[in-house]
Amino acid sequence: MASIALTSRLDYLATRKFPKEFPAPGRARLRPSRGGTPRISKNGSDGASPSPTHLTIPRSPFDIPDMPRPFPLIALALLLALPTRAADLAVSTDFPGGAAQVTAIDQTARLITFKIPTPKQGGWQSWWYLKVSGITPGEKVTLHLTNGVAHAGRAVYSTDGKSWKYTEIVTFEEKGKRALYRQKIDAAEAYFAWYQPYLPENAQQLIKDATGKPGVETFELCKSEEGLPVVGLRFREGDRPDDKRLGVWIHARQHAWETGGSWAADGLARWLMSDDARAKNLRQIADFTLIPIMDVDSVAGGRGGKDQKPHDHNRDWIDEPIWAATKAAMARVKAMDAASRLDLFLDLHDPGWAGNIEFWCHLYPKMTDPRKHNTDLFLAAGKREITGPLAFNGKAVSKYALTTPSSGIWATLKTKEKVVGGTFEIGVAPPRGHDADPPSHHLTCGKQIGLAVEAYLADATRKP
Ligand SMILES: [Zn+2]
Repeated sequence: MASIALTSRLDYLATRKFPKEFPAPGRARLRPSRGGTPRISKNGSDGASPSPTHLTIPRSPFDIPDMPRPFPLIALALLLALPTRAADLAVSTDFPGGAAQVTAIDQTARLITFKIPTPKQGGWQSWWYLKVSGITPGEKVTLHLTNGVAHAGRAVYSTDGKSWKYTEIVTFEEKGKRALYRQKIDAAEAYFAWYQPYLPENAQQLIKDATGKPGVETFELCKSEEGLPVVGLRFREGDRPDDKRLGVWIHARQHAWETGGSWAADGLARWLMSDDARAKNLRQIADFTLIPIMDVDSVAGGRGGKDQKPHDHNRDWIDEPIWAATKAAMARVKAMDAASRLDLFLDLHDPGWAGNIEFWCHLYPKMTDPRKHNTDLFLAAGKREITGPLAFNGKAVSKYALTTPSSGIWATLKTKEKVVGGTFEIGVAPPRGHDADPPSHHLTCGKQIGLAVEAYLADATRKP
């Protein structure tokens, strides 16, 4: 992505229920009038541009009694000569993770203007994901997002819902301060999103692919508030007794819109279940738990999640947590720590904005040994292994007050002194010049995090 702009503009609009599909069959439809201004009609026709199927053919000069009647051929020729009216573009969001509120569709300019909806749960308006139909294959479709707290330089699109690409680069002059995304689409339908979605079905696919692999168990951490399973993987292979293993806990997606965290978790899990010698070594020496999606309800509901009411999952690392997922995660992590079986705790977030990955570890300047010693070893291992496209500089970022309730801070304040804990802020976009399709840089980043964990745990100078 060429550029990413983060604005602090929270364009909260009046809360109202937004249509899941726009326009819906049989409901009012927006179409351009002759003047180009959208207007609404109830029957799907604007009354000005009759559709080809309702054309009235002018009487033919050949329509004279008792003469040969070439009328049908002439009429056909006239029909073929008329310009074909493109199908109307329509937007739908009635699928898991879908989120967009269309405010206008200019059918002539093929321009869709939309907002990120205001969820009743509150939280950042930062995630959007929609499907456009009615596309004439080969034409360019433009999307204009008019609100939101984070605008990508380029969005992503897919014509099959599986493989995704970045949208075209829109010139800065045209884009100005608008979030404008444009793409030529060679299909009748296409999905567009802030970034490639990682949905509950992706986590379920990961679980399915892990099932039966050596040294991998899959489990359900809990059910969410809306009854969805919060799933996890546990990697532990060989005969080493539990009290001789090194405990690792990693979770992603406490903020639902930060899909890069889940893609990195997915890349990490797929490497860790592979035949790679270092992955196998990590399975042998560790008891490694990974949760790819914590706030599964906000993910499925297409909500940003961050700063939702009364507080989000990352702010729930308190004495009395309210969310089922954080409650269950904390219970497991506390038990590991109480048994002195927790060594490393990582919380995966996204986006960072600089085409890299940062390690947020707010206690770092005040740490004492052995935590400081171990954290330095982990930072050094990270610098060696996380080499890009999202590269790590080996430094800790420390800017939050330690009173901030967050899982990364909790993991350094409330655990045994040997524990290394913190948050990886994973760049949403790769650095300039790296143009591979998403989510390859996130999958690679996840694998490299795994390599860093293996290098750190295998380091004999680590303090117990
Ligand atoms: Zn976050």
